[in-house]
Amino acid sequence: MSQSLATVAYLGAAILFILSLGGLSNPETSRRGNLLGMVGMALAVLATVFGPRVGPSGLAWIVGALAIGGGIGLYAARVVKMTQMPELVALMHSLVGLAACLVGFASYVDTAILLEGVEKTIHEVEIYIGILIGAITFSGSLIAFGKLNGKIGGKPLLLPARHWLNLVALLVVIYFGREFLNAPDVQSGMVPLIVMAVIALLFGIHMVMAIGGADMPVVVSMLNSYSGWAAAATGFMLSNDLLIVTGALVGSSGAILSYIMCNAMNRNFISVIAGGFGGGAPTKKKAAAGEPAQPQGEVVPVSAADTAELLREAKRVIIVPGYGMAVAQAQHTVNDIVKTLRDKGVQVRFAIHPVAGRMPGHMNVLLAEAKVPYDIVMEMDEINDDFPDTDVAIVIGANDIVNPAAQDDPDSPIAGMPVLEVWKAKTSIVMKRSMASGYAGVDNPLFYKENNRMLFGDAKKMLDEVLGALRG
Ligand code: NDP
Repeated sequence: MSQSLATVAYLGAAILFILSLGGLSNPETSRRGNLLGMVGMALAVLATVFGPRVGPSGLAWIVGALAIGGGIGLYAARVVKMTQMPELVALMHSLVGLAACLVGFASYVDTAILLEGVEKTIHEVEIYIGILIGAITFSGSLIAFGKLNGKIGGKPLLLPARHWLNLVALLVVIYFGREFLNAPDVQSGMVPLIVMAVIALLFGIHMVMAIGGADMPVVVSMLNSYSGWAAAATGFMLSNDLLIVTGALVGSSGAILSYIMCNAMNRNFISVIAGGFGGGAPTKKKAAAGEPAQPQGEVVPVSAADTAELLREAKRVIIVPGYGMAVAQAQHTVNDIVKTLRDKGVQVRFAIHPVAGRMPGHMNVLLAEAKVPYDIVMEMDEINDDFPDTDVAIVIGANDIVNPAAQDDPDSPIAGMPVLEVWKAKTSIVMKRSMASGYAGVDNPLFYKENNRMLFGDAKKMLDEVLGALRG
């Protein structure tokens, strides 16, 4: 393939990626968006593999690596459960970071001796920054993977003088950057490069370990953004324009997502990164006053049959899905219940919290899969004022996103986070298996409110019973 044909293919792929992002902004067009992205990526891979920069000797290596990597990817995508998706995404981000590091080292060994003067300095700066971002993305994403699958606890790890540690790390990285640029040959340049990579790896671990459970959504989207910048850095190192454009698209859309997540959780981006939120530990004030961390009141259980009765008699119902709906894979039964109730003339709508589930848009994906009509799926801001006019608010496997402590308890680790005000409905019903807390590890006073009922059990099983009772 000639250079000009490859350039045209790259341009086509870049346009497809932009159209893909546009499509992904709306559930109705997201399938097409995904498809455009896949076509764009296939085009990009073909143009690169058969492009002018790959000789016949390199082709076999690339095709072999593609087959191995593609095979592993295909297998992982087939066996991964929907609830493991966020972990898989975190793992993918870590691989982008690792790739940036490896390309950085290879590029230094390969090209440093060929370049001179300003060109050499620019290339080395690209390498240094590329490995820096790559290493932070790699180790940070691995820790996020551990936190998302529960292997690492959600409590923030707060080292003493952690901000000073970060500052010192930054200064050391700058110092070794100077050493690296002044190194007379590849061998002596390797030392500062490796030292910096180790510091960046430790920094990535420290950064994500310091972030509490409740703030993980911001970290996930932030690492998504970092992986984009790591890819863009790889593009600079390899002088590949498409990789730069694609990386910048991922980097900037991830940054916008982080901003949206911060707004949704009423958090300041810098404070989240600085860490320490969302620990779920009892506060000093509470401990000193000797107050119990547990909320007070009585928990009133309800049966599936009574839940069906309440729903049948209601005029207006709001359903709040959360992570538990994903675990139980209850979305199809939810849709059947919605259909049955709508046929009986009940108004049913969904309230989607921006951080419900374990990844951005998690609930929307599940509801779209079950073919719930888009026009009854509302964002939090669109529907939160409607709870006082609602007869029944039914919470399916959600916890943190309906926790009134976010509003009432300034000492709560989730204080200030906007939540869905289900307790303002005439009756709220929470469907979950036990009294256990959610991802943020915070107790939920909603369960003890007078107008709240608890429907204990697996969401799918209980909803099947509710559906049976509604139809019977
Ligand atoms: P939560 O984690 O707060 O609560 C989910 C609840 O579902 C649990 O309390 C659990 O209770 C229940 N549950 C689990 N399995 C089942 C089941 N099979 N049937 C019925 N119930 C079940 O989830 P939310 O969606 O309310 O909130 C999301 C949380 O995740 C927030 O803290 C958010 O910050 C965090 N997060 C979100 C990310 C995102 O991008 N959206 C990313 C990372 C973290 P029980 O065990 O008693 O059944």
